[in-house]
Amino acid sequence: MARKSTKAGKEAAETRLRAAGLRPTRQRVALAGLLFRHGHRHLTAESLHAEAAEAGIGVSLATVYNTLHQFTEAGLLRQVAVDASRFYFDTNVEAHQHFYAEDDGRLIDIPGDAIAVTGMPAPPRGTEIDRVDIVIRIKRR
Ligand SMILES: [Zn+2]
Repeated sequence: MARKSTKAGKEAAETRLRAAGLRPTRQRVALAGLLFRHGHRHLTAESLHAEAAEAGIGVSLATVYNTLHQFTEAGLLRQVAVDASRFYFDTNVEAHQHFYAEDDGRLIDIPGDAIAVTGMPAPPRGTEIDRVDIVIRIKRR
């Protein structure tokens, strides 16, 4: 990667972190630079940890986990749970749903307006519906 684009990426990451109310520490800037460099995508903590190692960024898996959760709390990422033991972090925080390919563990975006939910039950008293997450599981035929 060219030095100039690396510097621009670092500045963009710092700006993004500050706008979300997060202090741009060296590790946060480095991980944000990796996360947001290729447009929208879905990652696990393990896959980001591997990318960081490849890029020569020395962070522990625990730090990657903590940072991803901080980014999610700050609204920079959205968590997508596929099952109790597997969840992804999504750089697209706009309303949308997902296909989950069971063969290779890939998440594929479904535009927000492509699914209409009808017959939604009234939420329990004192609550309101925050959002609806739909994961449609697919497999190769
Ligand atoms: Zn997505």
